[in-house]
Amino acid sequence: MADMNLPLSSVGRNHIKLNDMHGAHNYHPLPVVLARGQGEWVWDVDGRRYLDMLSAYSAVNQGHVHPRMVETLMEQAGRITLTSRAFYNDQIGPWLKELTEFCGMERALPMNSGAEAVETAVKLARKWGYRTKKVAPEQAEIIVCDSNFHGRTTMIVGFSSDPQYRADFGPFTGGFKIVPYGDAQALRQAITPNTVGFLVEPIQGEAGVIVPPAGYLAECDRICKEHNFLFIADEIQTGLCRTGKTFCFQHENCAPELLILGKALGGGFYPISAVVGTDAVLGLLKPGDHGSTFGGNPLACALSRTALRILQDENLAGRAETLGQRFRSRLTAALPKSVVKEVRGKGLLNAIELQSSAGPARNYSEQLALRGVLAKETRSTTIRFAPPLVIGDDAMEWALEQITEVFSVVRGA
Ligand SMILES: *Cc1c(COP(=O)(O)O)cnc(C)c1O
Repeated sequence: MADMNLPLSSVGRNHIKLNDMHGAHNYHPLPVVLARGQGEWVWDVDGRRYLDMLSAYSAVNQGHVHPRMVETLMEQAGRITLTSRAFYNDQIGPWLKELTEFCGMERALPMNSGAEAVETAVKLARKWGYRTKKVAPEQAEIIVCDSNFHGRTTMIVGFSSDPQYRADFGPFTGGFKIVPYGDAQALRQAITPNTVGFLVEPIQGEAGVIVPPAGYLAECDRICKEHNFLFIADEIQTGLCRTGKTFCFQHENCAPELLILGKALGGGFYPISAVVGTDAVLGLLKPGDHGSTFGGNPLACALSRTALRILQDENLAGRAETLGQRFRSRLTAALPKSVVKEVRGKGLLNAIELQSSAGPARNYSEQLALRGVLAKETRSTTIRFAPPLVIGDDAMEWALEQITEVFSVVRGA
């Protein structure tokens, strides 16, 4: 239920009531009911404007309702939208070529949600383990990190370290080992002859924008190669220009065998995800090994092609890099140390971590919303800021002012 005093109209209140009465309560949204978006801005049902500093958890890197996406949507929706993979369609081939070139990889496999792509990567790593590494049947192990977030399927929450994500959802799938994040030595110690993959987020987004120590990813990549198992980078949140490079792993010298993409791959218009990787791994699948009714549908592929082109044509990696540095340096200087412990991140994936005495992060997201800035707390002491990468200089300046005022005024109200 609405739990803050945003000036909601009866229209807005009614929408929230419908959610409350008829939906499962698996989210705790801010009481803002959005009806329209453009670029970095969104409007609620009462016409109030907000700056979107969440981008649907990094799924709208290209900005809301990008005109080129709208054009592709209309054009493709009028031609053909779904064929299944029982036949070819005239979008999936060009999409596969463009995506693999974009990633510098050899093959790709389309799915729909991020979690499905993670499931696919796990299946691929195991298949590779049995076929190529010759691990004994049913013995494959995948190493994952503490505080990981890879999605919400039963297999994935089975290797989550968050008790709430797992509670009452078992029994779970075996074959996963959890090691501390940011500690390459811990990875080394967890290796057995049955290790087939290391699944890792280059920055842990849901855990609160946890940036690992410099050199960590490169060292992990070296360990994977040395001990013959796959480096599987979950770039669903960090990829596609969010952190100031096309992919976050490119900040360091590493070469994942599998790259998991989702979120902004569909430009905020359509769910599409993918595993992109080497022929040595993706080439192992035979017809019937894996599939998805909607995976690779022509509407998704057409939209994704445009989404990728926008990232390149508008140099959104460069924008994320420049604006991200501004964001962190300005706020680090401006925010009172009594309230803010740290401002951290890469590119435009950033977080403000509060001092434990500062009160719950939710208070701050609410105060920001009152000033027209939409950001969301993740965990109880961190607020994530991840605006669309198309955010204008003026909008960024305005956001910095609002954030500075909120953190100077609230002080744990
Ligand atoms: C969002 C996210 C997922 C899950 O994607 P869904 O589309 O919600 O299933 C997986 N991994 C990471 C790193 C994510 O941020």
